[in-house]
Order: sequence, then structure tokens, then C-alpha cells
Amino acid sequence: VQAVFRSNLSHLLDLMGSGKESLIFMKKRTKRLTAQWALAAQRLAQKLGATRRDQKQILVHIGFLTEESGDVFSPRVLKGGPLGEMVQWADILAALYVLGHGLRVTVSLKELQSNLGVPPGRGSCPLTMPLPFDLIYTDYHGLQQMKQHMGLSFKKYRCRIRVIDTFGTEPAYNHEEYATLHGYRTNWGYWNLNPKQFMTMFPHTPDNSFMGFVSEELNETEKQLIKGGKASNMAVVYGKEASIWKFQGKEKFLGILNKYMEIHGTVYYESQRPPEVPAFVKNHGLLPQPEFQQLLRKAKLFIGFGFPYEGPAPLEAIANGCIFLQSRFSPPHSSLNHEFFRGKPTSREVFSQHPYAENFIGKPHVWTVDYNNSEEFEAAIKAIMRTQVDPYLPYEYTCEGMLERIHAYIQHQDFCVAPGPALPGAHTPQSPFVLAPNATHLEWAQNASLAPAAWPPAHSLRAWLATPGRACTDTCLDHGLICEPSFFPFLNSQDAFLKLQVPCDSTESEMNHLYPAFAQPGQECYLQKDPLLFSCAGSNTKYRRLCPCRDFRKGQVALCQGCL
Ligand code: UDP
Repeated sequence: VQAVFRSNLSHLLDLMGSGKESLIFMKKRTKRLTAQWALAAQRLAQKLGATRRDQKQILVHIGFLTEESGDVFSPRVLKGGPLGEMVQWADILAALYVLGHGLRVTVSLKELQSNLGVPPGRGSCPLTMPLPFDLIYTDYHGLQQMKQHMGLSFKKYRCRIRVIDTFGTEPAYNHEEYATLHGYRTNWGYWNLNPKQFMTMFPHTPDNSFMGFVSEELNETEKQLIKGGKASNMAVVYGKEASIWKFQGKEKFLGILNKYMEIHGTVYYESQRPPEVPAFVKNHGLLPQPEFQQLLRKAKLFIGFGFPYEGPAPLEAIANGCIFLQSRFSPPHSSLNHEFFRGKPTSREVFSQHPYAENFIGKPHVWTVDYNNSEEFEAAIKAIMRTQVDPYLPYEYTCEGMLERIHAYIQHQDFCVAPGPALPGAHTPQSPFVLAPNATHLEWAQNASLAPAAWPPAHSLRAWLATPGRACTDTCLDHGLICEPSFFPFLNSQDAFLKLQVPCDSTESEMNHLYPAFAQPGQECYLQKDPLLFSCAGSNTKYRRLCPCRDFRKGQVALCQGCL
């Protein structure tokens, strides 16, 4: 059956159920964004033309909202607790629905069981039964529940699962045996899924799929209106919970900021001003989302004091014409040195409060400065007050961009097919590429006979040998490209090293998430023994990694030029 775009979301609102504060927040958001989704659907339909889109039957099981997982978020919705996850789930549901797929939504174990056909009262069903869904979107909590209650069919159908995982799961943590052997200890890893089955909030490492969310868009008239109505001396502080006001050097920074600007906050409070928030700050309390947007429309500056990490609010601020000022982290924060990231299945180093804003948006919209240096901080504020910016929203965070990306994933990502002939291994005679004319990297050979129907299409492959200690994520970005883990099999051969003119004295095949790589001291070349361990993330000064890169669409880093 072909999927047909939908523009009326009222049936989706019914599917979402009711009762919980979190669901109320999500439904309000969906309702508010209906017109925007409908317009985006129209545009994407035009862009895709006659492209065939199969309709899928999809179960969305939001594990963190179930009582069985403790549902710690719903009671905090009205108290300034994290809303980013709910923003994202609301948008995922809307995107799947607008794309025209068959949808079921569950937020309790009971509903999950009845949708999976598990007999009530049975902890788990020992038999494998047919699964009535092509795809299941869930989170780590939901994954655990499915493992417990699906019996053998969990193993059989795990390839249909997609895990919404805000901060991402790197391959070294995902591979149970490897993580256990090498001390990649976490609370969440060890699932042995294809790393692309994990879907993140921002494009962290391309080892995972970038899911994202959307921000409200402005039309030209609104943009002009907002630009004209900005108060150049108005600042809004990022963060809804009083605890974010406990940062180091608070008096100094707020003092400097207060010299130039009127400071506004949206910090939750019960009856009195929270003691952490100084008296000169105009605190509005936690605002409903539309009112928060209105506040951003008037403000010039949105300022972060180090926490929360990587939420939606800075994108909304920039989309509403604010400049986002944030601190650089030096040394970077990671699961090794910061409580918040501890136990998360990633070694990613975070160099500022919002790395996406810093690296994908940057100046004039985003200023990342060293807050230890009060002169630099003060100079930034003065410069920002003089700087004119237009409201800006990267395409991948528009409704059309999100629809385009999820459409591509649904039609092309298939983790149920066995990793086929694409793994040449050490002894395959020829790989299908050649050394580029300037002898820096490998390109797909025009006349290569092996042209698999894989996705992304293999001809977008560019392979580079990283410098010592550099990860493939960074190596590809250095060349204006993005790492593409699904291309690793093409590079995992002696022939690839040979073509790159790497002088291998010997070649060995081992399990190591940094392989394929070349170790300089012994002139040794290493191939990857287990495809589940292919990883864009990760580095060690001992190795020069062999990196598969590809191009990407402007404003849509998840998709290559030929990926639609
Ligand atoms: N938000 C809100 N009221 C406020 C401040 C923020 O509704 O007073 C919303 C905001 O629009 C954003 C969401 O809270 O979409 C999550 O924002 P944040 O970046 O703080 O991420 P979190 O830490 O909550 O995941």
C-alpha cells in the first residue's frame, strides 16, 4: 500500500491518549504546529514527485512515560523539568502520522502487551508470534520492557526496533562482548543492535541515525516584524530549574550582564522567588511554550550558563532572532569527568553547552566564549548588542526537513537483511575504488562492477586516512564531508590500504572499534573482524584510522546528495 500524506492531525491527537501532564503538553504542541506540518507535507510531496512510499504499520511505545519505568518526567512537566524529550516525541509522532503511516501509540505496559498480542497476565510469551508492526519506535526503557515481555520474538524482530536515544550510543558500548572485555561500562549499552537503530536528538556521531525535532518557523512578514521589535538590551537566561543558577562565578557574570541588559528568566517557582535567582532578574516563572516563544521574539540575547546540555531551546531562540551566547568547556565535558554524562554509552567530548549550535550554526547567531575570562565575556555582550541578525532555522530542524529525513529512513533503512556481500574481508582481491588524482583519498571507481543497491548509494564514498589520534567523525568533517559507517565494509580490506599506498608490513584482523587502521611504529595494518564494531567515533594516537566519508545535503547532514 502506498502512504498518503495527511494534513488533518485530529485523529493523531486521539491516538495519543490523555490524562498525563506530559501527554497534554505534547498534544498542545502538535495542535499548535498542525498548519506548519500540513504546509511541509505539501512541499515535500511536491519535491518527491512520483517517488513510491510504502505505508508501514508502526508502533510507538514511549517507555519513559510508563508507570512501570517510574514515569519521573510527567510530574515535572509543570515544574521546569526536562521537556526536550516530550518535544521530540510529539514531533516524531506528528512526522510519522503526516507521512501517512499506520500508527499505534502506547504509554503503558498493558497497552504494549495487548498491541504485541502477548496474552494478559503472562510475563512473557515463549513462542514467536507474528508481529503486526513493520517498525517499532521506543526508548531504552521501552526496549527493556520489550525484551522482558516479548519472549523469543524479541530476538526475531529486534531489527525492526528504533531506539530514541537523546545523547547517542557509540558502537564500542553497544557491542556486548567488546564493551564487557574493554571496560566500556554503562547503565544503558550492551544491546548489540545495529548502531544506526539508535536515533539521536542532534547529529552527534553518524554511527547513530539523527532523528531530531522541529522548531516553529516564521514567514517573511513575521521575520521582519520580529527584527523591528527587538529590545536590544533584553536577555533571557537558558534554563527552567533553579539549580542552573548555581554556577561558578555567578555574581561576576550576572553583574557584568546586568550592566548592559535587562535580564529575564523563566525559572519554575512555587510561591516565592527561588533564592538562587537574584532580585534584579525579572523572573516570569515557567511559561507555556507559546508564551516562551513570545518572550524570545522580543529578546536580543539568549544566554546559557553551562546547563542544560543540548536542548531545543537555543534553536528556538535563534529561530526567533536571538543571539545565543554560551560558554566554551575547557577541558571538555564527557562521561569521564561529568556526573550528567556518567553512565551514558558514549565517550563524546562536549566542548560547549550546545555543540550543535556552535559547530553547525556559529556566528553571528551563536557566540561561544571562555567564561573564565571576564573581559572576553564583556566584550562579547557589547558586540552582540550591536550585531543585527535574521531569525535562522537550519533546514533539518524545519518540519519539511524532519519529514524528508524520516521518509528516507523509513523507505531505505533495513536492518533485518543480513549484512550481505558488502563485507569483502582481508582476502577479497579488488575493492571498487581508485586513488583520487591528487593522491589524497580514495574515490568510487566510475567503472566499478560492484554497484550494490545499498543505501546510502556507495558512489558517494570518499575514503581518507586520518592523521594519528584523529577520529573518523572529525576527519570527514575536516574535508567538508560526514563519516558514513555503512561504507566501512568497502574499506576493510588489504586492497584499500594498498590503493592508498599505505606501506603495510603485515596485516591482521582483530576486534577493535578503531579498525581498519594503520599503526605507524610497526607499519602494521589492522582490519576489523566484527562488522558490529565499525565506528566513526573513537581515536587513539597510536593509530591512523581509515575513514569512510560521504557528501551531505546542505542543512540536512543525515542525507547524501543522492540519498532521496
Ligand atoms: N520551554 C517552555 N517554557 C519555558 C522555557 C522553555 O515551554 O518557560 C520549552 C521550550 O520551548 C523547549 C522545551 O521547553 O522546547 C525544552 O527546552 P530545553 O532546551 O530547556 O530542554 P530540556 O532541558 O527541557 O530538555
